[in-house]
Amino acid sequence: MKTRALLFILFLTAGWESAVGAQQANDVIENRVRHLLAQMTLEEKVGQMTQIDFSVVSVENGQDADNPIDQAKLDDALFNHHVGSILNTPTTPNNKAQPIEKWRNMTQVIRETAAKTRLKIPVIYGIDAIHGATYTQGATLFPQAISMAATFNTELSEKAGEITARAVKASGLDWDFSPVMDIGRQPLWPRFWETYGEDVHLAGAMGSAYIRGHQGDDFAAAYKAPTCLKHYVGYSYPLNGKDRTPAWIGERALREYFLPPFQAGVLAGAPTVMINSAEVDGIPGHANYHYLTEILRGEMGFSGFTVSDWEDIIRLYTRDKMAASPREAVKIAVMAGVDMSMVPFDYSFYDLLLELAKTGEVPLSRIDEAVGRILRVKLQSGLFERSEPSIPVAGNFATGQDQALNRQAAEEAIVLAKNANGILPLSKQTSILVTGPTANLLSVMNGGWTITWQGDAEQWYPQDKLTLLKALQQKTAGKVTYVGGQRYDEEINIEQAVTQARRHDVVILALGENTYTETLGNIDSLELPPVQLQLARAIFAAGKPVILVTFGGRPRIITEIAEQAQAVLLGFLPGMEGGAAMADILFGDVNPSGKLPLSYPRAANDVTPYDHKPMEAFEANQYKPLYPFGHGLSYTRFETSGLKLGKSSITLGETIEVSVNIKNAGNLAGKEAVLVYLHDLIGSVTRPVKQLKAFKKVDLKPGQQQTLRFTLTPDDMSFIGVAKQRIVEPGEFEVMVGAETARFNVAAN
Ligand code: BGC
Repeated sequence: MKTRALLFILFLTAGWESAVGAQQANDVIENRVRHLLAQMTLEEKVGQMTQIDFSVVSVENGQDADNPIDQAKLDDALFNHHVGSILNTPTTPNNKAQPIEKWRNMTQVIRETAAKTRLKIPVIYGIDAIHGATYTQGATLFPQAISMAATFNTELSEKAGEITARAVKASGLDWDFSPVMDIGRQPLWPRFWETYGEDVHLAGAMGSAYIRGHQGDDFAAAYKAPTCLKHYVGYSYPLNGKDRTPAWIGERALREYFLPPFQAGVLAGAPTVMINSAEVDGIPGHANYHYLTEILRGEMGFSGFTVSDWEDIIRLYTRDKMAASPREAVKIAVMAGVDMSMVPFDYSFYDLLLELAKTGEVPLSRIDEAVGRILRVKLQSGLFERSEPSIPVAGNFATGQDQALNRQAAEEAIVLAKNANGILPLSKQTSILVTGPTANLLSVMNGGWTITWQGDAEQWYPQDKLTLLKALQQKTAGKVTYVGGQRYDEEINIEQAVTQARRHDVVILALGENTYTETLGNIDSLELPPVQLQLARAIFAAGKPVILVTFGGRPRIITEIAEQAQAVLLGFLPGMEGGAAMADILFGDVNPSGKLPLSYPRAANDVTPYDHKPMEAFEANQYKPLYPFGHGLSYTRFETSGLKLGKSSITLGETIEVSVNIKNAGNLAGKEAVLVYLHDLIGSVTRPVKQLKAFKKVDLKPGQQQTLRFTLTPDDMSFIGVAKQRIVEPGEFEVMVGAETARFNVAAN
């Protein structure tokens, strides 16, 4: 034993030896998995596959109790039902964030109880820490994914992942149901903002960076935690825009647009995957053997475990009428490839799976496979070695550095979409009327999964964080008047707003959405609520320059207002530092650098992505969003020049080098994301007019120039061909950066 430990340490010391060390660590884990499986009863195995909500082990009103755990219920869960996983905060549906010490105590009780079970298998506690530790009071809460994507800064995403993992671990929690790798191509969908936007490459890059930060090289480390890719696959593209409704995605489109971000997440090492709650092409996510087993494992090489989404196995019976009984629903889901069931309120899954296993309807080999995967992730996460929370709170939770990073992320996330006559930045001497429903709320900048599930409990938001109004007031001694409004769909005192508009130099009109997620956020149209339009029209009639600021998770239609406004700032969901960051940008203390990760629609029914097909811009058809993908202005001026390719011709399978100069040609320091697009000119399957393949954000002083280099790989040149396999076809390609273009040829071997 000793020699083995010594060998293990020695192997970790240098390059090639570390691969051997990793192999040995894997062998140790595999041995432990085999050893545990050999000792486990069927009941213990089925229990590992069961995940329950906190409320199942909680006292009544657990969210307010000092000690929310009912020990008898917890004992029942762990000793009688051998439960493998618990999720959520006390107590659904009236959930809310808890103090960190309470979290540590609660998870400690669970840890200690699990340590008393026969095989001492730890519980893996999962939480939706989707923009920081949602359910821990005072956590650093970052811009939501749509806004992180607008930063086009993978380093920020990586650091947000790192900080989130630390907050999760300092809370005594184990596992993060994040990142969302769904592609945001249906803006009505109430979870649009949980995605990294419409582009495949951007989503893969931002999501993998987050995973790298969250997990490091080894998520057994005290500061690291496993991630969960969700919601595999096609969840984000409901035809009617409503949450948990059918998507119709052909297999070629699935492989071209929806699978690649998940593949990127698998390659980045995410060990768990949560399943699509809805259906694609008539098959519910939880019943789709082809997606869950043949593609995810057979093709994508995923070796971790899959977890169902909320109640989704029973819904194969209660909702989808695909199974004739709850028992059949369990059988269909487990045989399709669901390893763990987020039941979450009872032991029905446990009871039914036990029966199915005893009668052989679900073979033991399938149970062992699922349990093996779950145990492996628990071992890889270091849970067996943990008798208390792995890191202290001090220095690991909501630190000054975390906050500074969050502020930077918010600053880089905000998109300056219009700035007529350079009205922005404003002078601090300007007298300003601030009006509109999103000016004085923190919730509108944070969205769902903030303190509560829906994120709408404004009263529980941290008092020291600044709404846009408060941030503006802090920056300008007494120059700001406010005519408020608290709800996005309620009329505010328009007459008073207009009177005040006349008395001020400019109006900051803050519009947008309230907070929401999942089905509660369904809407029937992207149009803004009529009361907001009424307010805007009345304000314009007052004749003062208007600066439109928007917050919210979806691109609500603002065309009429944006056209009349002098300036437009799109905030989306910039998080807890959003108010401060927006005020900094308005006054020029920060130079904006966000770019749109989506095509901002001009009209509610004209949703066309930037990477559309030629026929979408043919004859009468046009790609004419209000603002295109990648759009975002700065207070300085950037110029791209000298686009060069390493070669004018390559053969199939080769890479090509791209270089381009980016210069800050203005008078102010600024950051700029340089986006590299590729267009395959002729294809046996119609090719998008362009596709993002690489990007880099630079920070340049006035006059400074930098040469950026990129490598485009065969994968970048590939697409899903007629036979539904990834191919590269010989022929001509065009590279586009800014206004520059260059072509190369790919010759057959
Ligand atoms: C959501 C998931 C989430 C889960 C657990 C579900 O309703 O769809 O995204 O991770 O709940 O809270």
